Amino acid sequence: MEFYNNFIRTFNDLPDHTTLLVHSLSGCLLHCYGCHNYDEIIANKPKLYKTEQDLYDYLDKSGFLFDAIMFSGGEFLIDKIDDIIQLLTRVRKCFDGKIIVTTCGAYPNKLKQLIELHLVDGIHIDMKLPYHALDIKEDKEIFQAVIGISPNQKLITHFLESINIVLQHNSPYDQVRTVKYPILDQAFFDEIEQYITDQKTYWDSQVAYYLNEFLTV
Ligand code: SF4
Repeated sequence: MEFYNNFIRTFNDLPDHTTLLVHSLSGCLLHCYGCHNYDEIIANKPKLYKTEQDLYDYLDKSGFLFDAIMFSGGEFLIDKIDDIIQLLTRVRKCFDGKIIVTTCGAYPNKLKQLIELHLVDGIHIDMKLPYHALDIKEDKEIFQAVIGISPNQKLITHFLESINIVLQHNSPYDQVRTVKYPILDQAFFDEIEQYITDQKTYWDSQVAYYLNEFLTV
């Protein structure tokens, strides 16, 4: 796996933690409205990059400065599960902080495996649209405008399954997040929040939900 050449220190991504943010350069299956990473990380893969060994060396030397590491993308889970397991197992060995993975939710089976192997402490998952209330044919234009593709029903099922896996995981380091896309009516965000509230009640889950402002860069 290859990573964006800058490892980034953040204070906002995980409350009360100093987090090392690592972007994989493996790409993304979506092309979301206003994606901050698309041009620099996904569409045009940088010539300079860090390797897995660079990451291990960095953690050996400077890992004590952080109490969490967050793997983002692109879509971090797009790689082969064996490669992801190998990476996170090695990070677990050399880093004492929390391991956080961000995802759009397309890979529920990979999420399950990482949870079972105790290789993630928290998952930050996006719910970009009220998937449960949309129709892949009738709402094709909405999907195109927000996530940049026309999904099949299997992908929608995977998105919803992943969200429910995270709610069930119920770790204090988990989050479900929605970007308040300016092209969507408030009713979309109300529908998403209601779904999360209902599913949290179903799973008796305390996972935090955030509606984040859309930021332009
Ligand atoms: S899932 Fe994330 S990285 Fe991929 S296109 Fe959407 S916002 Fe960008």
